[in-house]
Amino acid sequence: MLTLIFATNNAHKVQEIQAAIGHKLTVISLKAAGIDIDIPEPYDTLEANATQKSRTIQQLTGKNCFSEDTGLEVDALNGEPGVKSARYAGEDKAFDKNIEKLLGKLGDNPQRTARFRTVISLVWGDQEYLFEGICEGTIIHDKRGAGGFGYDPVFVPEGSTRTFAEMTLEEKGQYSHRKKAADKLVSFLQQVVQQA
Ligand code: IMP
Repeated sequence: MLTLIFATNNAHKVQEIQAAIGHKLTVISLKAAGIDIDIPEPYDTLEANATQKSRTIQQLTGKNCFSEDTGLEVDALNGEPGVKSARYAGEDKAFDKNIEKLLGKLGDNPQRTARFRTVISLVWGDQEYLFEGICEGTIIHDKRGAGGFGYDPVFVPEGSTRTFAEMTLEEKGQYSHRKKAADKLVSFLQQVVQQA
């Protein structure tokens, strides 16, 4: 069985990616790999931050690994919070405060279209690869649902009337940006493994 370190401390992300990948690959979180590190995200693109995270962990462990960076891009806010989604309302990365700030800035604006964009960076030997997944949707006026994490309670994906926070992991996976990016990672790895 192929194993790969996922350079994240976010247990929700590990769960979602492992569910997307199924049994084809075992994903090992930083915690499970015994690595206690909060990798900085200093750049202004998802691509650069994701690459920084996977390179850092590869240098630390000498092993192949991947990371991901995700942003919520709200059209009426010119793409905000975007790459700053985690720290939108401050360094403590508090989900509630981030949502409060987002809803406050949008106010009654009827233009509420937005998208989640995930970029996965894979470091494989001496090569680096990027995989993108996008989920279009809208921001509702008040929080709904108790599942998921981050902005899930205020995001309704296109094709549904429910927020991500009102869905099970499997249901979120039918729409999710992260699942789309993970699917691309998996098909790439399947090709690589078959050729090996
Ligand atoms: P990062 O990729 O850890 O920097 O994530 C940025 C922030 O975006 C997170 O802290 C969450 O607030 C938010 N986020 C990322 N993915 C999701 C998601 O699938 N649903 C809701 N919020 C998300």
